[in-house]
Amino acid sequence: MLQVKAIETYYGSSQALFGVDLQVEEGQVVTMLGRNGMGKTTTVSSIMGMRSPKRGEVTLDGRKVSHLESYKVARLGIGLVPEGRRVFPNLNVRENLLAAASQRQGNASPWTLQRVYELFPRLQERQLNMGNQLSGGEQQMLAIGRALMINPRLLILDEATEGLAPIIRDEIWACLTYLKSQGQSILVIDKNLDALLRIADHHFVLEKGRVVWQGNSAQLQQDPQVQHRYLGI
Ligand code: ATP
Repeated sequence: MLQVKAIETYYGSSQALFGVDLQVEEGQVVTMLGRNGMGKTTTVSSIMGMRSPKRGEVTLDGRKVSHLESYKVARLGIGLVPEGRRVFPNLNVRENLLAAASQRQGNASPWTLQRVYELFPRLQERQLNMGNQLSGGEQQMLAIGRALMINPRLLILDEATEGLAPIIRDEIWACLTYLKSQGQSILVIDKNLDALLRIADHHFVLEKGRVVWQGNSAQLQQDPQVQHRYLGI
């Protein structure tokens, strides 16, 4: 469904991506792995239209999304949980979720406030609290709920468990496992390799703006050299 084809992306004159290729198939959970500064977030920005690639293209279901504005990419069905969460601090939980729902296309509404609250009961308890009154874990749940409210064909999570207590992390992993069981396609960037090996179908390893390895969890588990060389394990 998502095809990233040979994208080259720059910050000014400095090139960050040197021809990244990756794919997410319908219903798959796919990861982008690699040490800091290797190009994972830049790839997400390129997919989401926040930093258009100079060469190459990104398509969703055959439709070109690179070079569209971010809100249009969201409307076409890519829900982003960005690095750093970025919930609206001056809206309450409910308003944050409803603001996202206004971005969705058509009338399809499998995701409702009620469904998000069932997924994260804590958000229902906190529904009248402002974004800036939430704990880190609650903000992360809200960021995920907000991305789901656009009814994404593809959900992208960039470092969604960073800085969270282990118990909250586990809740996020359980949520992703549930979403996968519902057929949700997911692209995830995270440093918790053990959890990713359990959940993901396919992995892409980035090094200096290029995909240097790809394979499934069993292949990655059996390849200590890749883990050591590119992931520092
Ligand atoms: P991290 O986990 O640290 O976010 P990453 O794999 O997501 O790492 P990117 O953030 O995509 O890596 O960075 C890729 C390259 O682009 C790095 O060399 C980085 O220094 C550079 N870069 C990232 N953001 C900017 C920016 N705003 N301006 C200039 N260069 C940038």
